[in-house]
Amino acid sequence: MKVNCIFCKIIRGDISAYKVYEDNNVLAFLDIAPVNPGHVLVVPKVHSGNLDDVDELMLAYLMRAVKRVGKALEKGLGVKGYNVTINNGAVAGQLIDHCHIHIIPRQPKDGLTPWPQSRYKDDEARKLAAKIKASVVIC
Ligand code: AMP
Ligand code: ZN
Repeated sequence: MKVNCIFCKIIRGDISAYKVYEDNNVLAFLDIAPVNPGHVLVVPKVHSGNLDDVDELMLAYLMRAVKRVGKALEKGLGVKGYNVTINNGAVAGQLIDHCHIHIIPRQPKDGLTPWPQSRYKDDEARKLAAKIKASVVIC
């Protein structure tokens, strides 16, 4: 637990949240500023800054919870699909320094636009893939 972490405070019960799922390792609650109604955050109960700090077993617990909450959104709210996303690191938009997975319910024509995409030029893709492949570590 980290004293000043807002999600640790929610886990401790020091500040309130609309909890939707909980087990020994994971808590899920409504995002206070939803992208769409029913937007849920899934967090490890142990404080972990970002994905690098989350061990494999916890990742499995987190994804199990994501699947369970996703099913609940489908069953309880009639949601037909949802985005699962992690903003990992400040440059990726991570504002709260306690790893969390967003589950964002989607509706047809809900106004959310897909990420802009581009194309690789020349040999760029092969070089990038080679660099990434050479840097994979089993952590
Ligand atoms: P991120 O940008 O990925 O770090 O997302 C942080 C998310 O936490 C944002 O979507 C916020 O709306 C949400 N958030 C911040 N404070 C609270 C809170 N007290 N309860 C619920 N959600 C929160
Ligand atoms: Zn925390």
